[in-house]
Amino acid sequence: MQVINGLHQIKTSMIRPHLPYVMSYAFEDKNGGVTLFDTGFGTDNATLELENGLNEIGYSLDSINNIIISHAHPDHIGMIDRIRKKNKHFNLIMSSVEYGWVNSRKSRNWQEIGNAWLSKHGMSADEIANSQQDSQWKNIEWPSLQDAEVVNDADTMEYGPWSFEFIHTPGHTIGHICLYERNNKFLLTGDHILPHISPNVSVDFEGKNSDALIKYMGSLKKVLNFETKLVLPAHEFAFKNLSERVNELLQHHEDRLKEHIHSFSSKPMTAVEVAREVSWNTGNFNNFNLMMKRSAIGETVAHLELLVANNQLVKINGGHKEVIWNLT
Ligand SMILES: [Zn+2]
Repeated sequence: MQVINGLHQIKTSMIRPHLPYVMSYAFEDKNGGVTLFDTGFGTDNATLELENGLNEIGYSLDSINNIIISHAHPDHIGMIDRIRKKNKHFNLIMSSVEYGWVNSRKSRNWQEIGNAWLSKHGMSADEIANSQQDSQWKNIEWPSLQDAEVVNDADTMEYGPWSFEFIHTPGHTIGHICLYERNNKFLLTGDHILPHISPNVSVDFEGKNSDALIKYMGSLKKVLNFETKLVLPAHEFAFKNLSERVNELLQHHEDRLKEHIHSFSSKPMTAVEVAREVSWNTGNFNNFNLMMKRSAIGETVAHLELLVANNQLVKINGGHKEVIWNLT
């Protein structure tokens, strides 16, 4: 779909119930090349959809000069190695913070670390073993981001008729970036702001971003007053009222924080107990597959950590097998 002359939105499949597709954006430079913002999931089918999308506007995978990625999740970076097979010359551009984070996480057994983290937050070994696995994410490809060129907040890049500014918006991931196109006042938000769904904001298994929600809310406020004619997210659909949506998301998290506090009575709870107590618009926590349970608990911990930072809760770590939380 053409957004305006020279800018195209290309949808590729992801087959998630709530996020069925990823939207890449292709900027034409008018000299036979394109710059892509985000790729899509690393499957043959999705790669073919991207290739077809480029063909329809007169380009191929080999026409790509640059791939800018919003963050290093598989639905945004997944196709990189497949594109490399047909194009050896594109520049990969990503946030310096995300690059550092990805490099610090190499070669670990994430299944094991993830399970240890779940049990630390109160999930029984039985529930971990019996939760349905997520087949789509199980055999996921993690392309190499080694050769990436890194950018920092407020860096700019001129490309054909386009003037890009990279905006560091940590929260959904530690080094998430939005792309602001200054000439047309478009904000490409990746997964930072979606029009309908509230993006997942989770702590990671190693406690490196226990302040994820504090950062996320700061990043929402950072873009609140950006003069923006059109918001182009990576999922769902393009929309116009940036500040209205940002305020809704801020309010959503304020409401969620209250709901988390209200789930406590007199006794301490684990994050898993709190996650079972609060509501999820994606269904009942107990029916989630393991991947969704991890995201939900990560999001619960992010809320609990913010409440600790606000002195409304205490986190009790020492001497217990599990991490528990209680009212102050
Ligand atoms: Zn995504």
